[in-house]
Amino acid sequence: MISLTDKVALVTGSTRGIGRTIAETLAQAGAEVVISSRSADDCKRVADEFTAKGYEVLGIAADVSDPDAAQNLIKEIIAQRGELHIVVNNAGITRDNLIMRMKPADWDAVMAVNLKSVFNVSQAVIRPMLKARSGRIINITSVVGQMGNPGQTNYAASKAGIIGFTKSLAREIASRNITVNAVAPGYIATEMTKNLSDDARQRLMDQIPLGRIGEPMDVANLVAFLASDLAGYITGQVYNVDGGLVMQG
Ligand code: NAP
Repeated sequence: MISLTDKVALVTGSTRGIGRTIAETLAQAGAEVVISSRSADDCKRVADEFTAKGYEVLGIAADVSDPDAAQNLIKEIIAQRGELHIVVNNAGITRDNLIMRMKPADWDAVMAVNLKSVFNVSQAVIRPMLKARSGRIINITSVVGQMGNPGQTNYAASKAGIIGFTKSLAREIASRNITVNAVAPGYIATEMTKNLSDDARQRLMDQIPLGRIGEPMDVANLVAFLASDLAGYITGQVYNVDGGLVMQG
């Protein structure tokens, strides 16, 4: 049984979709969770909903693509709770286009929100985790970072970057008992994927051995395990939650 009692967990991008389900799953396992996204209103609304369900929760808005905002977010959590044991770097966006039409601003935005944010938040949390000589960092990447996808050069590059970052940081801080892992979802039913045409959806399902699009819970269950003491001997790994879409040797 996974227990996260007495742990404080930050999930970036947790006002909807996969992040929200991860936050709720960690809260159900006993963690005090920090809900965060760019929208203060959404953070408050979700925090209120969690409080009504009896979970321990803080809501703090931050644009994690901004290094100062990421630093302030971590400072605020430490100021209010004294510790931060678990960080799930989940915030992400898409700005899809074929490369001929992709605007440099769309490249920059995706790299800033998806990849630089992982650096920003991890760097900000490292000092308190080193001091505590323990910690869990879990980065949400994507199968697209492994297999590529036409129209997503920016997104694929940002998600592949997360994988290299995860392995390097895992090696850098393993001696301090801090683990760093990545989770690579396949196609999961959220706002991000709801605009797929019926045709595109069918073509996708034909490629998924388990024959269905995933649910946020499929991802959240693995994140909860990686965040727990049960996963203490696992670091620098990338785990796919994709219905078998990518099978690696
Ligand atoms: P989503 O429903 O669009 O939710 C994204 C969350 O990130 C929202 O809470 C959003 O809130 C927040 N966010 C966006 N930009 C932010 C920023 N600069 N700073 C802080 N928060 C920010 O997305 P999702 O489908 O749940 O995806 C979650 C993660 O899983 C992403 O990293 C995505 O790349 C990855 N993933 C998703 C799928 C999929 O099929 N859905 C597959 C593979 C990987 P605001 O916009 O209000 O800030």
